[in-house]
Amino acid sequence: MPLFFQNMRRVFRELNETPLSDLPVALTGYAKPKIEKGIETGAFRLGLMNLLSSRFRGPGIALMFHEIQTDVESELLTGCPPEQLREILRAIKSDGRDVVTIEEGLAQLGQQNPKPFALLTLDDAYRDNLEIALPILEEFAAPTTLFVPTGMINRQLDVWWLELRAVLKHHETFAFPPMDRVFVCADTASKAAALRKVTAWVGTDQGRVNELTAALAPYGMNKASLIDSYAMDDATLKQFAAHPLVTIGAHTTTHRFMSQLSDDEVMREFKDNKEFLENLIGQRVEFLAYPYGTEGACGEREANLAKEAGFKAAFTTRPGHVFAEHLKLPHLLPRIDVGYFPQRKAALASRLSGFQRAMLTGWKEPIATLT
Ligand SMILES: [Zn+2]
Repeated sequence: MPLFFQNMRRVFRELNETPLSDLPVALTGYAKPKIEKGIETGAFRLGLMNLLSSRFRGPGIALMFHEIQTDVESELLTGCPPEQLREILRAIKSDGRDVVTIEEGLAQLGQQNPKPFALLTLDDAYRDNLEIALPILEEFAAPTTLFVPTGMINRQLDVWWLELRAVLKHHETFAFPPMDRVFVCADTASKAAALRKVTAWVGTDQGRVNELTAALAPYGMNKASLIDSYAMDDATLKQFAAHPLVTIGAHTTTHRFMSQLSDDEVMREFKDNKEFLENLIGQRVEFLAYPYGTEGACGEREANLAKEAGFKAAFTTRPGHVFAEHLKLPHLLPRIDVGYFPQRKAALASRLSGFQRAMLTGWKEPIATLT
């Protein structure tokens, strides 16, 4: 209850500071996730999810994970704990889907009555994917694709999300003038909430990323050693890539918003990263995931460039299932995030059944492409 009152106080405070013309937007911002959560929970409890989302259930689903953490609390709830990964793999199986490689999934899509399948994808090359996720994937004989940005392996990446997390872990306040906020965060819950809010604000635009990077600079964090603590290096990536369940995919060199770069720059991001990975692991790299993957981060132009760079298919983060129609647009495949914590049973069922997209599009557009 105290948390509820704190939240309400915050809502009223922020609504007070909102210009009248923006009020409907502000109210929607607060109400929408809560309403969606209520609808999801209701449909789940009444056993109506599959019925209400049958048009949105595709032959394929592509699931996205990042870090797989044994201690989610100490990392401010940013990853998926091992037991949750097992639960998701069990849910996929009981839903009648086989976990297959991207190559196999695309081939199955082209068939008359495709066998239902799931694709597992891991982004950014965290070392826990090798140490914690892989043994679990072995238990389930589940193949996976890891999308790797060059900058993570050569320690050059602007890992603002790891830097922000480290700063919040070690400080009780964080002032961030671009959001006009001072986050007071003495405990894990408030640190995790601050991290979520800043990440949501930043994750829409490269300019905002640059503002955050500038705000984090005075804390003097060493980015390369942060990457060292969490990410794979040449040797561990090679070891991971050599495993029979693993495919390596591209994720650009610098992990920026591709939509904000010139055609030439995007092409270099795609081709250099592909070449770097192919040279390192000695295998072809044929699939790509766009950094951020949102509408603002990638679209038709990036899809055309990805095709031109030689990728067979590419993934966004537009939520939705994979349909045979996507074979006409294989460089804008949807992908569903299930790698966050905590995850409600209703939220997982909503993603696996197609209910999530049905709800988000007002039961209008089963097939995700540009949105
Ligand atoms: Zn990424």
